[in-house]
Amino acid sequence: MSNQPAHDQQGVPYARGTPAGDGRALRFDNTFSRLPATFYTRLQPTPLPDPYLVAFNPSAAALIALDPGVAATPEFVETFSGNRVPPGADPLSGIYAGHQFGVFVPQLGDGRAILLGEAVGPDNRRWDLQLKGAGRTPYSRMGDGRAVLRSTIREYLCSEAMHGLGIPTTRALAITGSDAPVVRETVETAAVLTRMAPTHVRFGSFEVFHHRKQYEQVRQLADYVLREHFPELLSAEKPYLSLLSEVVYRTAELIARWQAVGFCHGVMNTDNMSILGLTIDYGPYGFLDGFDANHICNHSDDSGRYAYGMQPGIAHWNLYCLGQALLPLLDMDEAEAVLQKFEPAFDTAYVTLMRAKLGLQSPEDGDPELIKSLLGHMQSSRTDFTIFFRSLSLFDSTAGSKNEKLRDQFTGREAFDAWAAGYRARLAREASVDAERRDRMHRTNPAYVLRNWMAEDAIARAREDRDFTRIEEIRALLSDPFTEQPGMQRYAGYPPDWASAIAVSCSS
Ligand code: AMP
Ligand code: MG
Repeated sequence: MSNQPAHDQQGVPYARGTPAGDGRALRFDNTFSRLPATFYTRLQPTPLPDPYLVAFNPSAAALIALDPGVAATPEFVETFSGNRVPPGADPLSGIYAGHQFGVFVPQLGDGRAILLGEAVGPDNRRWDLQLKGAGRTPYSRMGDGRAVLRSTIREYLCSEAMHGLGIPTTRALAITGSDAPVVRETVETAAVLTRMAPTHVRFGSFEVFHHRKQYEQVRQLADYVLREHFPELLSAEKPYLSLLSEVVYRTAELIARWQAVGFCHGVMNTDNMSILGLTIDYGPYGFLDGFDANHICNHSDDSGRYAYGMQPGIAHWNLYCLGQALLPLLDMDEAEAVLQKFEPAFDTAYVTLMRAKLGLQSPEDGDPELIKSLLGHMQSSRTDFTIFFRSLSLFDSTAGSKNEKLRDQFTGREAFDAWAAGYRARLAREASVDAERRDRMHRTNPAYVLRNWMAEDAIARAREDRDFTRIEEIRALLSDPFTEQPGMQRYAGYPPDWASAIAVSCSS
């Protein structure tokens, strides 16, 4: 460390003694903390007793040129458990509000998350390094400011699984753990997840100031988001309207991707909606096993507000909340017109993705019907979403072939046969070649998704035996979910019987 250069090429001083990549230290450039203090509270993380490393993700580390070698150092563990604030960091917790299950809560905020600072990557992009579970903050309300090992493993694995699927998401850098007890339904142990994103600003970050009638703060935050994250919109005729429009399109694209991979978020409150259109705040999420549009992954969601099939409509509703919060900066009719773009944008993105899942290359008017009727049959049979689409790549389009392996996934075999006849005719119309289509479909229909039982298995080993190897095994597997990997067949099959007893709630 002693012979590291004191300055980089741009003359920005390196903070000495932070976990080093390529022999140098992390470099911070904290744009959010340069905003007025209305937007956050500066504070220090609460130390985590006797921390140890649970997981380290080399793929996220590369974004900030963090050498994987540093993960094993005590310095790294001390820093990413919140025990030692690296030079150049400027820790803070952000304030936000949110509509939770449809009810407005005027003040939430980072109740257990602390933004250490924004680390600058080798490409000069900045990444929030946020410690989740780093102690109480002024926004903790009744909470203890902690996260349990179980929930950090779930968030760590799922954010990387989503990234592997090509779905916009916050990233996960590391988990540190401690034997310190944390009380949930039972006594568990504490952990800190370090997550990364260009920003963690949410819809709710705007709602809090709108509700307080602090319209100048709404403007300052919008200016900040435009400047730092959508600079190309600054030259638009109406930058604030363009910002809303961009968020509408990004959110539509995001939710289409969720639907097309069978992902259920579970808690789509407006405080869990990223202004960048990232998947954020992984709690009681789930991937569909058997297809069920009404699937509710969150055990605490009694009414099914956030059921799988509700997600597009909820995203649209949430965008209206954002539009409302930005209204002081917008013309009402123009905002309304932009918000109405959500449905067509979602429909287009969704059909495009589903068409690709079916291996189709050129659009046809009847495609939405073809997709809908397939999902109808899958619903009746509770056909496994991931397994079916992966195996559909093996569809034999030769006249007369029965496609037994596919048809066996349906209780109504004749219904499948009828659908398959239509599909076969559709393939013929675009002169689809089986072998080529199979390769295409393998690149869009994953062999592996993060089913609850996989996370549960990794959690059980971590908690009971302090064996963290499964976490890394699953992370590595899901970083490339489209390629079948040797020895990993169990992750591509149906969930084990015990999986049906898993219930995930908001408790984290
Ligand atoms: P969530 O349902 O995880 O999106 O959290 C909703 C709000 O509760 C956010 O403001 C969180 O920061 C806060 N929160 C959740 N768990 C805790 C906790 N253990 N301690 C303090 N605040 C928490
Ligand atoms: Mg949240």
